[in-house]
Amino acid sequence: MKQIILLGASGSIGQQTLDVIRFHPKEFKLVALSVGKRIQQIPELIQEFNVSHICVQLASDAKELSTLFPQVNFYFGEAGLISLTSLALGDTVVNALVGFAGLMPTLKAIEHKKNIALANKETLIVGGKFVKEAIKQYGVMLTPIDSEHSAIFQCLQGNQASTVDKVIITASGGSFRDLSREKLKDVTLKQALAHPNWSMGAKITIDSATLMNKGFEVIEAHYLFDLDYDKIDVLIHRESIIHSMVQYCDQALIAQLGTADMRLPIQYALTYPNRYPLIQSESLDLAKIGTLHFENVNEDRFPFLKLAYEMGRKEGNACAIMNAANEEAVSAFLSNKISFIQIEELVFKAIESIPYIPNPTLADIINTDTLARDFVGQCVRGDF
Ligand code: NAD
Ligand code: MG
Repeated sequence: MKQIILLGASGSIGQQTLDVIRFHPKEFKLVALSVGKRIQQIPELIQEFNVSHICVQLASDAKELSTLFPQVNFYFGEAGLISLTSLALGDTVVNALVGFAGLMPTLKAIEHKKNIALANKETLIVGGKFVKEAIKQYGVMLTPIDSEHSAIFQCLQGNQASTVDKVIITASGGSFRDLSREKLKDVTLKQALAHPNWSMGAKITIDSATLMNKGFEVIEAHYLFDLDYDKIDVLIHRESIIHSMVQYCDQALIAQLGTADMRLPIQYALTYPNRYPLIQSESLDLAKIGTLHFENVNEDRFPFLKLAYEMGRKEGNACAIMNAANEEAVSAFLSNKISFIQIEELVFKAIESIPYIPNPTLADIINTDTLARDFVGQCVRGDF
């Protein structure tokens, strides 16, 4: 039985992970979980899963909950997430946090010899090099939850890595795929949050609309599968039925198809190399879908994709600047402080302004994150 520590249980991936755990009670036991500020579900979760270790974001929430549930150990804040991933119990950490907050818990979990099922892509964007080194040093396994990377991971099974010509990551194009750049000036938050195919957390939905998410996925693939950037392509596929593909040296193109249900990649990340039934799921009806569409990405329309390739190739702290600036800018857009198009402007401005470090230490990466956030925060307040 796998003992699972779930970080980000209240989020979109977190809730679907709980479903997967519910479906297979003989395979999985939830031993610890974290939520951010949405603590309402905690009493139910304690009752249902009998978890004994819970981390929340605020100290005041941890204090209040401790008096209500004295049998449970409560933790809070960043230090609390680190404590959770350092527990003696738990062999697998599902990281479903959003943003840079996921990096240190991932590294700590690896140090404590826990396998990682990773949804939190920002971990690899900012700290891919450190994560890879740690995985090697501590001999743990990291399996991808992101649907494209799960698809590639599945298409790689039974084949030799040396025979891969390239991987093709599919992209729906996000909420504004049919709008010109001119029209982007007037879009609203509500429109941006309406993804055509997937229901996801707010931040990744905005990242999908700017294609920053696809750029992140290129960098994620680079680290997960040890691939040069020249071997990673992106293809617009409106229907999100093909989740990604691998092309081999003999021109065989192997794809993984499925409905838009994240519980499959979550479950596969936890059961690999085995497959279990996906309970309460629908199978794909290709006859009903009829036609699938593909087109190349217009890089002028989506400058973030080109930027992600550039920053990925540049290495150093370049991706940490890009990620932090993007997190702050998206957060400002979600609070209605800036327009959609300003997300791009702020990220480009931060990359020009924050010093590049070719060989950063982990401390440099953390410092870069703070600098880039502060810079964007000041821009949003109108200080620059
Ligand atoms: P979400 O916003 O729905 O959930 C995020 C979770 O993290 C919540 O539990 C929140 O409380 C917690 N959290 C956020 N900031 C925190 C902080 N500073 N400290 C502690 N907890 C914090 O996000 P999501 O859509 O579930 O995405 C999670 C991750 O998975 C992201 O990195 C995203 O890119 C990736 N991902 C999501 C999907 C999807 O379908 N939702 C698909 C692929 C990849
Ligand atoms: Mg994805």
